[in-house]
Amino acid sequence: VAEFDLINQYFKPPCSARNDVLLGIGDDCALLSVPPDKALAVSTDTLISGVHFPHGTMPEDIGYKALAVNLSDLAAMGAEPAWASLAISLPTADKRWVEQFMQGFNPLAAQYNLVLVGGDTTQGVLSITVNIYGFVNEKKALKRSNASAGDLIFITGTLGDAGAGLDAVLNAERYNIPVDDTLRHCINRLNRPEPRIRAGLLLTQLSQIAAIDISDGLLVDLKHICEASQTGAIIHLDKIPLSDTLAGHYQKRPGGQQPDWQAITCAGDDYELCFSCPEYQVDEMNKVFEAQDISLTQIGKMTSSNKIECFDKAGIRQNLPLTGYTHFTHEKQ
Ligand code: ADP
Ligand code: MG
Repeated sequence: VAEFDLINQYFKPPCSARNDVLLGIGDDCALLSVPPDKALAVSTDTLISGVHFPHGTMPEDIGYKALAVNLSDLAAMGAEPAWASLAISLPTADKRWVEQFMQGFNPLAAQYNLVLVGGDTTQGVLSITVNIYGFVNEKKALKRSNASAGDLIFITGTLGDAGAGLDAVLNAERYNIPVDDTLRHCINRLNRPEPRIRAGLLLTQLSQIAAIDISDGLLVDLKHICEASQTGAIIHLDKIPLSDTLAGHYQKRPGGQQPDWQAITCAGDDYELCFSCPEYQVDEMNKVFEAQDISLTQIGKMTSSNKIECFDKAGIRQNLPLTGYTHFTHEKQ
């Protein structure tokens, strides 16, 4: 049967690179062994064609992103990746498509020593669900409820590229707007987000870190930390780091110069980490990250208010919507 051909040919890893996989793909369940001193960190993310990626996205990019967004959730908890399962629904048993999909999935799995241990293969509209499993010391987990007023707020990397990339793809489709090098860079960040696993693991060396991965938008994701921790936040917009490419793009716009802060703070898909760190630990944090080639930028501070307030370079408060991508509304709110 086509289903089993696909499983044997493409999903079954040649051999398990991990000795905690007691039994992998091929039986009714996988059997896995969790280290006795760790909690099992579990997360799921689904990608649906036309919702989470534009219909024309390449299968390699879908395979990469399906795993990357799940790894990103482990990163935001400070967990070390171990295993994944993959439920995939395909319109037809298209072997070439599955092969290319796995060409995006497998190298990323190998990079993080993650083994595919099971899944489900069905016919239907193109949709991919990955379950991911990792390990974390429960006391060191980067819980959203760990923040306190006065903690400093940081993000890894830069924001806004993926959102600009998504706009570029949709505009190219709708209005036939050509894709230049700037937009190509942004589309690449949309399709190939780098899960911040290393940063998440380094942060577990500290205490009382609250983290989230920016999947829906900086402000709406930060709001989740604020709600869980019962804090507010102040964000200094001009401190939010942009890639050279995106900064250049804003400078070139007619009358531009000012970045589009709403686009940058409300678009998701960058999969950077946003986290809070108690002030007394910032020196130690910098030491931990030294020589790690991961950029960290302080963009604000947790407060005891119940609001998230954004200020521009001149210190003027900007009213930006605390929203990002949400399902069931069929639009960016
Ligand atoms: P069952 O009918 O017992 O649920 P299946 O026939 O669905 O088992 O799957 C057979 C084996 O192949 C199982 O071990 C399952 O975990 C694995 N499997 C099925 N689909 C996938 C997939 N897309 N990726 C990885 N493993 C898969
Ligand atoms: Mg099954």
